[in-house]
Amino acid sequence: MAIKKYEKEDVKIVWQNEKCIHSANCAKGLSSVFKPKEKPWIQPDGASKQAIIDQVNKCPSGALSIEK
Ligand code: SF4
Repeated sequence: MAIKKYEKEDVKIVWQNEKCIHSANCAKGLSSVFKPKEKPWIQPDGASKQAIIDQVNKCPSGALSIEK
């Protein structure tokens, strides 16, 4: 399973590609950070740490998580 990590201040956004169901909740909810058409597709500089954490918590599949 591919696991990718994207760092922002003291949080790490973890994305497990095999769990992702491509619901696009993240891209719709916080398009300044989650950009499926770009590389890297997660760009943590696009929003505050708290906004990112809130969006990660809305991922329906658990593909996104926060590692502290
Ligand atoms: S919200 Fe979660 S399941 Fe949906 S596209 Fe984003 S990472 Fe994948």
